[in-house]
Amino acid sequence: MTLAAFPLWILEHLYFGFVSDFEFRASNLVAAIGLHWGRGKDEEVTLENMTEMPSTLCAPDEEKSCFACCPPIRPPGYEHLQYTNEIKRVLRENSASLMRKEKSLSPITGFSCWALGYLDGGFKRIGCLLHPSQNDGEDQRYRVNYGDKCARESCVEAGIFTHLSPEAKSFWLRLSQGLDSFSYSSSTLNPLFRVLGWGGPLLNLVAMAEKGQDLDGNSILKTYSFFETSLSPRANAYLLRALMDSGNLDLLRNPQFRGRFEELSHRLSERLSLKVLSSSTAPHVHLLPMDSDFLDFLRLSGHILKAGEEEAISLKELVDHELAEFETQVAASLHHAEKF
Ligand code: SF4
Ligand code: SF4
Repeated sequence: MTLAAFPLWILEHLYFGFVSDFEFRASNLVAAIGLHWGRGKDEEVTLENMTEMPSTLCAPDEEKSCFACCPPIRPPGYEHLQYTNEIKRVLRENSASLMRKEKSLSPITGFSCWALGYLDGGFKRIGCLLHPSQNDGEDQRYRVNYGDKCARESCVEAGIFTHLSPEAKSFWLRLSQGLDSFSYSSSTLNPLFRVLGWGGPLLNLVAMAEKGQDLDGNSILKTYSFFETSLSPRANAYLLRALMDSGNLDLLRNPQFRGRFEELSHRLSERLSLKVLSSSTAPHVHLLPMDSDFLDFLRLSGHILKAGEEEAISLKELVDHELAEFETQVAASLHHAEKF
């Protein structure tokens, strides 16, 4: 699809569930710049703190930045790498044509935001030209008429990254060393986005264990080849977290662990989906007062969208029991195999 054809695509798809994707993207998008340059939604931007900025997932260093959630409107599965040349041209045009003194509103229409452009003369970093850091502290993002959304919201991965320890941030950023802004912003090409889905506690643990080892990105993925699994991290974070709670990183480093874990995940997902009696009156599982990683497992891996609380508790008991068995049997067999 070309950029020019995109508005038509939107009209064609409004009745097919695209609106919800738009809502999701729009809310994510607007976070981009609030987090670009190291500021969460509530962090006040001042001229003083604009110079010293902690590393964020949106803007990790001087070589690259993420613009994956700007623009807000995109088809499901959209990958900006397919349109690199066209987008580069638009970014240059946006950067050149921005009228910083203009204050009137100009809503985003169609595919791209007119305020997304290059942030440096070397055309390396891509981000919001209306962000306070680009305008002497003045926040001009209201000009695209999204209210405070641009400053407020973020993607799940950026939230996880924010809560990593400083050492873990710099450790895991090694996975994206050498990527430019286009590759960095691609969840297909940038392994960091996938790895973050496994959750902050585990990533902090690994970074701590490797402190002083000076592994580069490739060596990290070689040592922890588990992270190259095709399983969805968010759908399986509960299982991995439970197995790693004891700090047993040897298991994670074992090359055979990935296959055994994948078997466990598939087996449990199938068992759960067979056990649930779907009832249209049961609450949506994500609303239950339970461990949110477990609820993600039910929903994304077991495809269980609705369940009563008691039912969910009994499923959790079943999963926890299987995890305990896995830990004793599989961990012992992998340990044994390693020895011989
Ligand atoms: S890291 Fe997330 S919030 Fe930041 S720009 Fe990329 S997609 Fe948006
Ligand atoms: S104004 Fe445009 S470029 Fe800036 S954060 Fe909002 S959508 Fe992104």
